[in-house]
Amino acid sequence: MIYKLLLCSLIVVSLNAFDYGLHPKKVAENTYCFFGKTETVSPQNGGNIVNTCFVQTKEGFVVIDSGPTYAYASQAYTQMQKIAKLPIKYVIITHDHDDHWQGNSFYKSKGALLIGPRSYEQNIVAGMPTRMERILGKALYGKTKIVTLDRIVDSNMTIKTSDESFEISQPVPIAHTKGDLIVYLPKKGILFAGDLVFNDRLTSLRDGSLVGSLEALDIIDAYHAKTIVGGHGYRTDANATQVLRDYLTEMKREIIEAQDEDIGLEEVNKRVTMPAFKQLKLYDALHRRNVSHVYRELEMMEDEDE
Ligand SMILES: [Zn+2]
Repeated sequence: MIYKLLLCSLIVVSLNAFDYGLHPKKVAENTYCFFGKTETVSPQNGGNIVNTCFVQTKEGFVVIDSGPTYAYASQAYTQMQKIAKLPIKYVIITHDHDDHWQGNSFYKSKGALLIGPRSYEQNIVAGMPTRMERILGKALYGKTKIVTLDRIVDSNMTIKTSDESFEISQPVPIAHTKGDLIVYLPKKGILFAGDLVFNDRLTSLRDGSLVGSLEALDIIDAYHAKTIVGGHGYRTDANATQVLRDYLTEMKREIIEAQDEDIGLEEVNKRVTMPAFKQLKLYDALHRRNVSHVYRELEMMEDEDE
């Protein structure tokens, strides 16, 4: 008997290779999020470095970001079904980084309508393994596939259920990535900001713009939302934009000051260390790279002004 049980559990473990241990946290009425680790992608975390959320409506769930893999999305779905036996109506993808959307193939198999930014389309034709596939490896990546979106949002779109409306919009052309989307629920006063808001760890500006990111934060704050959920980190109050704003503002000030003194990139990297932000996760991995990126961005803007 014990032997049989052991065999059964071994089979279950091998079929369900990675347990994400997802537990939804309520952030507002009928609104829940899974908060990921403030780390970089690794086989140990299965790519769960991301926040994904879902809203229960009368007709079904609306999911904001589908997470890193098919298995993640499937385990998120199991948690949702414990709250209510409802279908998945829509999945809204905030931006193109693959920790946010590789659960799409699972939700498509459940009949959900997928909505996202135009920049997502580059993945359809790319034919290259995604970052997630490379780092996680075949077994963890599992059934994850790249699927097409059903609707593209270029500027804005509102989707409605009988009891809720979801205002999707692109605040600026480039901020964290090209075409980042935010989702606002006016009745609940909740705003899903994707990676335009980070907490507890540093952002990565590799595909984005400091100037665009600051503009996007102004637009987000102008909603005066009661709850703001970013793509990474655990803070979700009305001032959840503050830490990232402080980081970007200080970086902009220090780099402009150095450029005014004609200091080159190498020196700037030594000087703009911003120790006040050292306690944030991923500082060592990302800060120097962010400084280099912003240095070039601001230099280019200066050249254009001349
Ligand atoms: Zn992200």
